[in-house]
Amino acid sequence: MPWCDGCDRFYKPGSLAPDGTCVHCGRFIASPDDEPDEPTDGPSRAPWHFYLLIVAVVVYLGWRLVQGIAWLAHRYL
Ligand SMILES: [Zn+2]
Repeated sequence: MPWCDGCDRFYKPGSLAPDGTCVHCGRFIASPDDEPDEPTDGPSRAPWHFYLLIVAVVVYLGWRLVQGIAWLAHRYL
């Protein structure tokens, strides 16, 4: 997040002048190319343990569904 020391305020990258200077005091803040922080080789990805959590939840809920179906079959059939 670009910060102007002269004006004591944050700026969105798009609200800076095209050369990266503050539109109010002219102080250089940041290159417009500095944002976003993520690598530019594709969209940002969630960490691997996020996908591990998703897989674990799907496996668990699938197993609970199997158990529920078995319980229903045992009760009503
Ligand atoms: Zn400024």
